[in-house]
Amino acid sequence: MFEIARLYRRFGLRPVELLEELLGTIRRDNLNAYITVDEEGALRDAQEAEQILAQGSDDVLAGIPLAIKDNICTRGIRTTCGSNILADFVPAYDATVVERLRKRGAIIIGKTNLDEFAMGSTTTTSNAGPTKNPFDETRTPGGSSGGSAAAVAADLCAGALGSDTGGSIRQPASFCGITGLKPTYGSVSRFGLVAFASSLDQIGPMAHSARETAVLFDAIKGHDPKDSTSVPGEYAPIDLNALDMHGIRIGVPQEFFAEGLSPDVERAVRFGITAYEELGARIVPIRLPHIRYGVAVYYVIATAEASSNLARYDGVRYGLRADGAKDLTDMYLQTRSQGFGAEVKRRIMLGTYVLSAGYYDAYYKKASQVRTLIARDFSEAFGQCDLIAGPTSPVTSFGLDEMMDDPLSIYLLDIYTIPANLAGLPALSIPCGFAEDGLPIGMQLMAPHFREDRLLGAGMAFQDCTRFHRVKP
Ligand code: GLN
Repeated sequence: MFEIARLYRRFGLRPVELLEELLGTIRRDNLNAYITVDEEGALRDAQEAEQILAQGSDDVLAGIPLAIKDNICTRGIRTTCGSNILADFVPAYDATVVERLRKRGAIIIGKTNLDEFAMGSTTTTSNAGPTKNPFDETRTPGGSSGGSAAAVAADLCAGALGSDTGGSIRQPASFCGITGLKPTYGSVSRFGLVAFASSLDQIGPMAHSARETAVLFDAIKGHDPKDSTSVPGEYAPIDLNALDMHGIRIGVPQEFFAEGLSPDVERAVRFGITAYEELGARIVPIRLPHIRYGVAVYYVIATAEASSNLARYDGVRYGLRADGAKDLTDMYLQTRSQGFGAEVKRRIMLGTYVLSAGYYDAYYKKASQVRTLIARDFSEAFGQCDLIAGPTSPVTSFGLDEMMDDPLSIYLLDIYTIPANLAGLPALSIPCGFAEDGLPIGMQLMAPHFREDRLLGAGMAFQDCTRFHRVKP
């Protein structure tokens, strides 16, 4: 991103030239990172960027090619959510985040692949087929923002947006060796994000470095009257200088180094923590006693909200409508049976069950109560430390068809990312090493609400003295 900005200004490269080169690379590529490439629209954006640059703009984002996850609405560009039910859905408006990036002169190249409706951790349940990990094409890029992560890692864009409900930005970032931020709930507008679980969903940026991630976060953050959960007030710009780590207290939860953590991941994350210590940070052991319930709580709350959000796909208002139905009820039934894939159906059924009369108190209400306890664990922990560090995922990328018949094992892998969504906290994944077999490993940092500045500044401090984020597939 900074390199491209420099080439435009110092070496006379033009956005249209850069874009044409990039579109050629995307055409030859077979990672299946994009569902839709909007060649014409991108060309128009590039021409506009040329004018902005000709007027002497010093905006780093002018002419920067970006990719958008395909559950974020783009005016005139198909937004499928990786689902048959929205296969032909073309939104009439841009999501607020897209509008903000366009205002800065960015080029929107296209829409990236995801698990259907962002429900998953592998980018294999999309109706557009699986995305491959650029580090090993037989493996998953992670998910659900796997298309965005693969596109960034393989330089098929200079940065991307993803969405994170239980880890969908951070886990694919860690599997693909890039940086990804899940912002504080309420700091980035969700207007135009196709809802999965509204109390957990956040849009966030993905890029090679924390500094580039910060530039994108700066561009999309801030109050939006169109999203009632967006938090009003002034949002200070993020400092692009690394945070001085002297005296910063990094909390390391014992619970994050539990059974099931791969030895490769543990070694790399411990290395990362030691690196912070060498930069002057103080390491404090902390406890988060309730996070062991995180996965269970999440799969009740997320499925409950999903079952309600997905009720709108009824064949009347959006997308697919099944032909040949006998009557209205039959039309609903056939549309939803044909439109949704197996994982989405599983979640709708589970969510409907936990919300149903007689079970609501035992499941949904109980989960909401435990969610509060988890949030409280974090407020207490942040009394003793400024940041929390641990792994992003207990494992590195696995085979594209591994575990596909075992959804529960895949759900369990979300153990380290889910707590930040339940508590609404910002969290960042940064590359911190490689496994024996060469696959990338991510370290997760968490901060108190609205302290993205601290999070990103710490990411920059780490990346200014390491080069894991520069390693290309
Ligand atoms: N892997 C989690 C799930 O399957 C998280 C998905 C997400 O963050 N969108 O629900």
